[in-house]
Amino acid sequence: MRALTEKEIRRSFVNCSRSEAAGLTLPRDLDDVPWEDREYLGWRDPKAPLRGYAVLWHDDGPVGIALRAAESSMSSRTAAMCLLCQSTLSGGEVSLFTARRSGPAGRNGDTVGQYICADLQCSQRIRSDVPPWLRDRDPAEVVPQLAGDLLDRIGAFVGHVVDGQ
Ligand SMILES: [Zn+2]
Repeated sequence: MRALTEKEIRRSFVNCSRSEAAGLTLPRDLDDVPWEDREYLGWRDPKAPLRGYAVLWHDDGPVGIALRAAESSMSSRTAAMCLLCQSTLSGGEVSLFTARRSGPAGRNGDTVGQYICADLQCSQRIRSDVPPWLRDRDPAEVVPQLAGDLLDRIGAFVGHVVDGQ
C-alpha cells in the first residue's frame, strides 16, 4: 500500500467520531512500516485492549475502520481461520471483530462482523507463514497471490462497512 502519515491515518476513519479518531493510539514507529509489504495497516490499541484498527487504500483514498474485538475468545485448542488472509491458527489467535457501519446505518447500530487475525497482522502472516499446501511452490509466486486475495477480501469488508456500498 502507499505510505500514510499520522494525520492522514487519523482523518481516514469512516466509522468513529472525529474525537475518537483524534484520540486513538497509532502504531509506534510509523516511519519504519514497510508499506510495500502491507495490504492494510492493522493494529490493536494498547490502551484499549478490545479495540483494533485497519487502514487501507480503497477507491484511491485512505479508509480507516475502527474495530471492536469480541470479549470472549475462541478456545485455543480448536483451529480457526482468519477470513481475510485465510491463515489457519488456533482459536485464541483469531477474533471476531465488529465494525460499526459508517453513516446513518451505523448511527442506527448496524455493524458488520468478521473473523480476523487477533493481532490484525495478516500482511505479516502471509509473508512469514505460507500455508502448508503452498510450501512446495515458489514463495515469489505464492506471496503476491495471497496478497492479492487479502486485498480483495479486505476491500469487500470495507465495502460492507461504508454505508451505501
Ligand atoms: Zn489474517
